[in-house]
Amino acid sequence: MSSTHVFDMIVVGGGPAGYTAALYAARAGLDTLVLEKLSAGGQMALTEEIDNYPGYEDGIDGFTLAEKMQRQAERFGARTEYAQVERMDLTAEPKVLETSEGPFAARTVVLATGGGPRELGLAGEKALVGRGVAYCAACDGMRYKGRTVVVVGGGNSAAADALLLSRIAEKVILVHRRDQLRATKVYHAPLMQAENVEFRWNSTVTELLPEGKLTGVRLKDVHTGAESILPCDGLFISVGRKPATELVRGQLELDAGGYVAAGETTETSLPGVYAAGDVRTKPLRQVVTAVADGAMAVHMAEEYLAGGAPAARSPAGT
Ligand code: NAP
Repeated sequence: MSSTHVFDMIVVGGGPAGYTAALYAARAGLDTLVLEKLSAGGQMALTEEIDNYPGYEDGIDGFTLAEKMQRQAERFGARTEYAQVERMDLTAEPKVLETSEGPFAARTVVLATGGGPRELGLAGEKALVGRGVAYCAACDGMRYKGRTVVVVGGGNSAAADALLLSRIAEKVILVHRRDQLRATKVYHAPLMQAENVEFRWNSTVTELLPEGKLTGVRLKDVHTGAESILPCDGLFISVGRKPATELVRGQLELDAGGYVAAGETTETSLPGVYAAGDVRTKPLRQVVTAVADGAMAVHMAEEYLAGGAPAARSPAGT
């Protein structure tokens, strides 16, 4: 692929939104490239079991689903370049993306970069990553076999992480700043029933206690202010995601949370640039909503490439 070649579409990010965009674009005959820094799947690839993606009645692990999505897009001619995007000029025509593997150009860009874990922002947090502090139970859980771990957070990720860790660790203590989980009900019963899962409600982690590696955390009761020390071998921080939008800051309109301001059409503040999946403003971040965005982005891109005319719709709508 030469650097002077101009693709119809470059998709940045090979998660479910990205590979669905690539599938739809390639099937529509668009010359399509996916830029992925590591391996397909994004956050989904780190999910042990996905039970809410229709069509897999027994569930499927995220890594396998990611590989399937990549192969499906590539079957129709989409290509993948493993490259880290370093800079983008989205106002140029064509749009130019500087990467670790050289520059690439395209007439349209689908930003499907998802997000990364949100940090707690505690002193020593970065330095203790890999020495007790972790952000991904599916990646690092096995390191804590037979040990005591703390999970912070009350959303779906924290609940899923606590459940996964309950099958590996000796004891799991879930610390949440409220008196109940925000996670969907499907997680509640299994967590409450797990014999090795304990809860510390109305509590936040205020300090990491290291001796070379993490040995415990200091907790604070959000109502009384009372502090306590909780010894542990591992701390899994599951307090949400932050969008990967650093590369487009200043070029695309972002919302207050730093997500790309884009509605259901996935159109951003720049023509020919679309935001799909977790990276855009949306009320529900799921694989199923990410893949819907990927399809929509291509639909809008086709209209744009056709010079503003509505994209041809197949009678069957497929
Ligand atoms: P989330 O839904 O935003 O939940 C974040 C949790 O962390 C909340 O309980 C929040 O507390 C807590 N939190 C945030 N900042 C904190 C801080 N500084 N200190 C302590 N606690 C803090 O994030 P998520 O669980 O990572 O999920 C992200 C998205 O992926 C969601 O849309 C989720 O539905 C989706 N997801 C879905 C599944 C599934 O469907 N099975 C699995 C994983 C993720 P508050 O409750 O007080 O705000």
